[in-house]
Amino acid sequence: MANDYAFLAFNVAYLTLAAVLFCAERLWPYERDWLKNDGQIGADLAHTVLNKSAVQVMVAVGAAFGLAEVALRDGGLHDVWPSDWAMPLQVALAMVLVEAGLYTAHRLAHEWPFLWRFHAVHHSSTRLTFVNTGRFHVVDTTASILMSQPILFLAGAPIEIFKWVSATTAFIGMLTHCNVDMRFGWLNYVFNTPVLHRFHHSRDLAEGNKNYGENLMLFDLLCGTHYYRPYRPSSRIGIDQPMPATFLGQLKHPFLGLKLFGREIGATRRRGRSAPADAAGL
Ligand SMILES: [Zn+2]
Ligand SMILES: [Zn+2]
Repeated sequence: MANDYAFLAFNVAYLTLAAVLFCAERLWPYERDWLKNDGQIGADLAHTVLNKSAVQVMVAVGAAFGLAEVALRDGGLHDVWPSDWAMPLQVALAMVLVEAGLYTAHRLAHEWPFLWRFHAVHHSSTRLTFVNTGRFHVVDTTASILMSQPILFLAGAPIEIFKWVSATTAFIGMLTHCNVDMRFGWLNYVFNTPVLHRFHHSRDLAEGNKNYGENLMLFDLLCGTHYYRPYRPSSRIGIDQPMPATFLGQLKHPFLGLKLFGREIGATRRRGRSAPADAAGL
């Protein structure tokens, strides 16, 4: 019953934030052109639903296999987790641990052409709004989760911590994509913010290959990829390589011309132009 209540509370809060951002984007837009329909709302929402479903399946599978229990029983790592800390401190620690995986996954998605094929779906959007928060290829999402969540499992974090981290990631993700003119000052050095993420989506590689943090900027600061300047980020975002306009086309696109197990699958006439390696820098 408690889990049902927490699930309901999360969804009510999530939808409330979406409604608030919907209104705020129209009242105080950062970029008025981004309010226009880009014909991608259906694809954006379909990716969102698929990703949410995939995340829930992965959590269920993880729980079914009892990864945390395995860690507790075989590794004795549960002693590592500071269960006696105040809950906010435990959540903060978990956010840092998870961010290490998320930062690595995101940076790899930009620097490794194979993963860029999938991450390009997210960057193919030509506007930023809370609606395209969940516009990720499901393979991209899966890679991020596999590189981040097991850290918490292995550290023996209780399930409440997973819920707090997931909820915080969901809320920060929606905020970083929103098209609302807001200022965050020194928080740009702590959290991922809309202005930092607009730099990240820039077509200019000097700005675009920066700010990989999903929630926190800690690893960007440590690794020299933090980018924050006082000028207004360009509204010219997106990628140069082609991307289908439909949801199914976007799901299929990264596999075109891809060699798996020695075989090329889904060869396409456009392969030469659309090779992700050509745009791997963004
Ligand atoms: Zn990215
Ligand atoms: Zn983004």
